[in-house]
Amino acid sequence: MKVVRTIDELETAPGTGLVPTMGAFHDGHRALFRAARAENERVVVSLFVNPAQFDEPGDLEAYPRDEARDLAIAEAEGVDVVFAPAELYPKGFATWVVSDVTGAEADSRPGHFRGVATICLKLFNIVRPERAYFGQKDAQQVAVIRRLVRDLDVAVEIRVVPTVRDADGLALSSRNVRLSPEERDRALGLSRALEAALGAPDPVATARAALNGLEPDYVEVLHLGDAMVLAAAVRVGSTRLIDNILLEGEIR
Ligand code: AMP
Repeated sequence: MKVVRTIDELETAPGTGLVPTMGAFHDGHRALFRAARAENERVVVSLFVNPAQFDEPGDLEAYPRDEARDLAIAEAEGVDVVFAPAELYPKGFATWVVSDVTGAEADSRPGHFRGVATICLKLFNIVRPERAYFGQKDAQQVAVIRRLVRDLDVAVEIRVVPTVRDADGLALSSRNVRLSPEERDRALGLSRALEAALGAPDPVATARAALNGLEPDYVEVLHLGDAMVLAAAVRVGSTRLIDNILLEGEIR
């Protein structure tokens, strides 16, 4: 496996699958690596904690980082190249991709999807992948990226991988390591509330009522192409967690 630190050193090749990440790998990332490995001749994983998508400075500072561990995991999963640049915003950077795709996650995190859309378009241009892999866990991110690819005619196929969860249902997230044992217990209320709303006549109301005292940023039904998901964000202590569950259709 090659570790590449600069754009100049990064080669492009046909048959490349890209997995954009911010590191602190868990089994959710592994699932994306495996999906990419299964469908591409060459797998590139980008590892860059993108400051532009953080709307809270404290969250950026506290974001978990362990590059040595991440590289070992990527290598074990058969990744060909890890692109881990020190910087992707050159001095004087002045051009942003602003998405008008609406949703509660965008309302709740001003500027977040501008950072996400900009870094993803940069990565598509740098890596030139045939396919790029994203997790269903970040459902609105998928909506933003799909729209970006269509609207700006980017020649990449977007692939969506189902959410990987711990045995008790908690969606894996790099931020989970910041939860105390007591907070982790409470955080379970999020996936349980979404699960409880499956098949309910009013899934939003049912999920809200089932949150077990967790304070929601939002609970909403989000349309993702033909699919409909129930998505929610909660705060557990100082950690913000998101999750969603498929209500109808299929995310492709
Ligand atoms: P991140 O490193 O948190 O930016 O995530 C990189 C990619 O992994 C994103 O496309 C996420 O949606 C995806 N991802 C994060 N958590 C999970 C999970 N539990 N299951 C599946 N994909 C995930």
